[in-house]
Amino acid sequence: MVVVMKERVSTEQVERVIAHLVELGMDVHRSTGAARVVLGVVGSGKVDPRLIELMEGVHEVLRITEPYKLASRTFKPEDTVFQVGDVRVGGDEVIVIAGPCSAENEAQVDTTTAAVKRAGAKMLRGGAFKPRSSPYSFQGLGEEGLRLLHAAANTHDLRLVTEVMDISQIEVIDRYADVFQVGARNMQNFTLLRELGRTRKPVLLKRGISATVEEWLLSAEYVLAGGNTQVVLCERGIRTFETATRNTLDISAIPIVKQLSHLPVFVDPSHGTGRRDKVAPMARAAVAAGADGLLIEVHCDPDHAMSDGAQSLYPAQFDRLMAELRIIAPAIGRSICLEPIARRGWAR
Ligand code: PEP
Ligand code: MN
Repeated sequence: MVVVMKERVSTEQVERVIAHLVELGMDVHRSTGAARVVLGVVGSGKVDPRLIELMEGVHEVLRITEPYKLASRTFKPEDTVFQVGDVRVGGDEVIVIAGPCSAENEAQVDTTTAAVKRAGAKMLRGGAFKPRSSPYSFQGLGEEGLRLLHAAANTHDLRLVTEVMDISQIEVIDRYADVFQVGARNMQNFTLLRELGRTRKPVLLKRGISATVEEWLLSAEYVLAGGNTQVVLCERGIRTFETATRNTLDISAIPIVKQLSHLPVFVDPSHGTGRRDKVAPMARAAVAAGADGLLIEVHCDPDHAMSDGAQSLYPAQFDRLMAELRIIAPAIGRSICLEPIARRGWAR
C-alpha cells in the first residue's frame, strides 16, 4: 500500500499516520519528494485503506496488492488445469459445454444431448433448479431434471454441469453432476460459496450481473479458501445502459482475468447476448480473445423451449459454430475437439 500525503502536510500529521500504521503491525518506508511525502507500507497487519485516507494530511491511499490471494496469479503464477473425468479444463484445448437452458422432458434432453455430443461438446449443461426472474416462470424439474440430465450425459459420454441455487441442493446435485454451476444471481451468496468450498467437485462461477472483476475474483476466493481448488470463472455478460442485447458481454474481461488470475476463464455468449443470432459471433470472439471454454445453450426445438428459447441455438447452428471454432482455435495456439462425431447439413 502506498500513502500519498497532501502537499502542505505538517511533520506531526505524517508522524501520526506512521505511528498508526506501525501500531497496526505494518512497516513504513518514508520518502520525501520535492512536493510530497510518500509512505510505502508493507507487512501482514490488517489495514482498511479508507480509514487511512480519512486521516489528516492524507491525500490518497493506493493499494498495490490484490485483496484476493488464492485466486491471484501473484500467488500461483502457473495456469490452473484440472480433470473433470476425461476432460482437461484449463489446458490447451478449448472446452465447449452445451445443452438446454432447462431439462424439460426425456425426449428433449436426450435429443439435445445427442446433438451437442455429435458436434463436439465435451460437457452437457442443463438446469434442473432454475433461478427465474419471475416466480411464475418455469422453475425447473428439480431432481427429476437431474435424473434426465444424468442419464443423457451417461448415454452420450459427456460430463454434466448443472446449477446449484441453494446449500440445501448441494447433496442431491452432487449425486448426479460433475460440476456445480453457481449462477450470476448467486455470485455473492457467500454461504453457498463457502459450502461449495468444502466439496471436492469443480465449481463454475458465473460473473454477477453487476459484479466488478475484483468482486468476482473475491467470490472465487471463498471457494478456494475452503480448500476446493477447482474453480472455473464464467463471463456471462453484465448489466449496462445498453438495451440492444440482454446483457453486455464483457470480452475484455477474458484477458484481464487471465492476467490477474490463474483460474480457467469460460464465456457464456447465450446469456451474454440473449439472442441466438448474436451467439456465434460472440463465441468466436471469446475464443479469439483467449477463453478456455464456452458455455452455450442449445435446444432441439428452441421455438418451444420452456426457458431461454430466444438465445438457444438450433443444433445445426451449433454444429456450424463448432466448425468455425475449429478454424479459430489453432490460429491462437489452442485446440478444440477435432472431429465431430458425424457431419450433418448446415441448415438454418
Ligand atoms: C443459466 O446458465 O441457465 C443461467 C441461469 O445463467 P446465469 O446465472 O448466467 O443467468
Ligand atoms: Mn438459461
